[in-house]
Amino acid sequence: MIAASQVLDGKGGVLHDTRIVIDGSKIAAIDPKAGPVDYDLRSLTVLPGWIDAHVHITWSFGPDGKNAGEGGTTPEATYAAASNAWLTLMAGFTTVQDVGSAATIPLRDAIAQGRLPGPRILTSGGSIFGRGEQTGTADEIRAFVRKQKAAGADLIKIYASGGMTRGTMTMSQEQLNAACDEANKQGLRSLVHAYRDAVRAATLAGCTEVEHGLGASEEDLKLMAQRGTYIDPQAGLLLETYLQYKDRYLAPPYYTEEGFAAMKGLIQTHQDFLRRARLIPGLKIVYGTDAVAGSHGRNAEDFIHRVRDGGVRPMDAMVSANLLGAQALGMADQIGSIAPGLEADIIAIAGDPLKDITGVRRVVFVMRGGVVYKYAPPVGIPADSVPQL
Ligand SMILES: [Zn+2]
Repeated sequence: MIAASQVLDGKGGVLHDTRIVIDGSKIAAIDPKAGPVDYDLRSLTVLPGWIDAHVHITWSFGPDGKNAGEGGTTPEATYAAASNAWLTLMAGFTTVQDVGSAATIPLRDAIAQGRLPGPRILTSGGSIFGRGEQTGTADEIRAFVRKQKAAGADLIKIYASGGMTRGTMTMSQEQLNAACDEANKQGLRSLVHAYRDAVRAATLAGCTEVEHGLGASEEDLKLMAQRGTYIDPQAGLLLETYLQYKDRYLAPPYYTEEGFAAMKGLIQTHQDFLRRARLIPGLKIVYGTDAVAGSHGRNAEDFIHRVRDGGVRPMDAMVSANLLGAQALGMADQIGSIAPGLEADIIAIAGDPLKDITGVRRVVFVMRGGVVYKYAPPVGIPADSVPQL
């Protein structure tokens, strides 16, 4: 049982001076009179574990310090992926969606079976890379989607356009329609890397969620709101990571000097995009960081960018990684809120993120599925908030 003075319920509400009763892996009740107290989290802010809708959990730096990409199968890469999972969990993220590597499947399963600590992982396994005609016929694309499902994918990841600044659609509308329609038929969600005109195409194709989205027009965003298509824009962590580790990433033709030179300005462009997107009524903006090598465990930094630099209200930022994030995963009946019957994914931070968003850096308590993985009260909190053992 957890005692709390301030609880953000994940849905936009705040509970005061209450207790959360845990039974096994689940939240059994919210009852201010329940006892005895196992974890006294008064003086902290308690909230549902965060959901990061877009990570590359296996992406790491190699033994030489350089970017080793994702999907490596060396011992170093394997341990690095396990370490990324641990760091992500310690940062308060109890569920992540991995979009792009078959190497994630055994990591996902090891965590699910309780053999490794980490966040609950949903993964696409591999991806569909748009390559124009070569992407395949509609039937071939549909067959690939089914193959991914058979291989254990939880969702389908599709690359439908070039990168942040250039490149048109890399798949036709017909190809995208086939990919997302087949995913729907197979009961899988579809996430589409899309910039500019690919955003509208993915929306029209009935895909679940658009990743990135830069270059979408006002009309495109309104159409997404109308259709209920989720959007997952980034606000700074990804590009800051690249800039911070430039020497490790620099490797033409993918990571070039010109590319890095453009990144500073691009951070602003992303934040301007978020400022525009958040004003579209009904547009469902989820929290996804695109965490790569060097970002894992720092996933919460994008909250700070979103609020401080992107004009997002702190409560909206929290809900984007709680209820809304859970809805985007089709898991709102299991995670994303603090309510009876849901998984006991509960975190606590020193500070109040509604008043100072940088509090998201100070995660001191992490419970996932009723198991406590972290309980490190920071110095300076009252002695009577430390549990009596
Ligand atoms: Zn990504």
